[in-house]
Amino acid sequence: MWLYILFFMSDCNLENDCSEQDEKSLDLKKLINEIPPDNSLYDMSEILKAVSDPLRLKIIYLLKNDELCGCHIDSALEKPQSTISHHLTVLKKSKLINWRKKGKWTYFSLANSKLIEQIENVTGVERTNFSEDLCSCETEIKLVESLVGDENGCACGSFNAPDQSKIENPKKPKTEITDSLLKTLKKKSEKLGVVSIGYAKIPKDIFNNDNTLEYSNAIVLTYPIGREIVDEIPSEIAHELNDNLYEKFGNISYELSDILRKEGFASQVAHPKEALTDLSKLGQEAGLGYIGKSGLLISPELGPRLKVSAILTTAENLPFSEKNSHEWIKSYCKRCSKCIKKCPEDALSEKEDKLAKAELFDAKCIGCSLGCTYCIESCPFFENGYNWVKEKQMKLDAKLKEKGKL
Ligand code: SF4
Ligand code: SF4
Repeated sequence: MWLYILFFMSDCNLENDCSEQDEKSLDLKKLINEIPPDNSLYDMSEILKAVSDPLRLKIIYLLKNDELCGCHIDSALEKPQSTISHHLTVLKKSKLINWRKKGKWTYFSLANSKLIEQIENVTGVERTNFSEDLCSCETEIKLVESLVGDENGCACGSFNAPDQSKIENPKKPKTEITDSLLKTLKKKSEKLGVVSIGYAKIPKDIFNNDNTLEYSNAIVLTYPIGREIVDEIPSEIAHELNDNLYEKFGNISYELSDILRKEGFASQVAHPKEALTDLSKLGQEAGLGYIGKSGLLISPELGPRLKVSAILTTAENLPFSEKNSHEWIKSYCKRCSKCIKKCPEDALSEKEDKLAKAELFDAKCIGCSLGCTYCIESCPFFENGYNWVKEKQMKLDAKLKEKGKL
């Protein structure tokens, strides 16, 4: 792969008056035929974007020998947990690193043991040029490890949401939940500020493709993003407000999960900030809304101004949603695209066939790192409300029907 990249990085100067043009055109044809297909080139450029950040490169070097707990990466790099979390998410999504959960902690490792060698080859930078920096990181990791003892005793905080459960999972968990316990959960969640609650069987395409999900049934929750966050421009302040919201909603999710555990059900919280699973998709499966072009879940109560979390559980007889009454949102999004136009980082891109969902380039998005909400505030569902948009869509559908175009 890196050979192809080197080809593009080289000086390719094809002057019209080159005396060897005929001969070169023949070579050129061969070279053109050897260019990988567009989808491979796209994958390569995404990988290059993912490694094109000094902090992400540092993380890669930290993982060169063995996997590391997220807390060690935080400590070694002396950056805010949220910053490291953002960069790890980019590396995870580009499939450059693997991750696994063990108890409260998340461990990361390189997906390809030759990655560092490949990066060094393509950049031509000698390892010895920066071995001193590396030493200080390694020393720091050793120091942290000597302070915390074995990996389970890690006490220096985790950049991935630490488990806040107060009650242990039961050894022989129940599987049949009563209506009365469901009512209690709903009532308690409303009291804590949860706006909607739904139930979903985790779809096969997102269930345990990386063995991180413990149960296949989910109670899905939505929580409002405060106006003060949406009103703030992307900044450290917005980032902090956003992080506080994640923490608050995460704690609420743990509190509700503890109610289940106390009643004899085993549970696992999919924290709103963690990429444990696709929470927007779970929200859609639970019938709480529909995923818009921005990739955000759009609900009747909050439009896209919401966070999603889930409690995975052993309860098998949850009142699962059978159909989604918000699917019409897809048709509206096909004609809209305001979120794409307003994204300041070009992190959203229209798919060629103008499908309802845009392509999201994680490495560009500053939603988590700077609390950006432009794709929320530009959305007509946020500006005008769900019912206004629905009415508009229905009128349009009626007109199209009249003209025989639907
Ligand atoms: S959060 Fe901001 S940067 Fe990310 S997709 Fe939305 S508008 Fe773009
Ligand atoms: S801004 Fe438009 S395209 Fe984007 S999610 Fe909202 S309705 Fe859909």
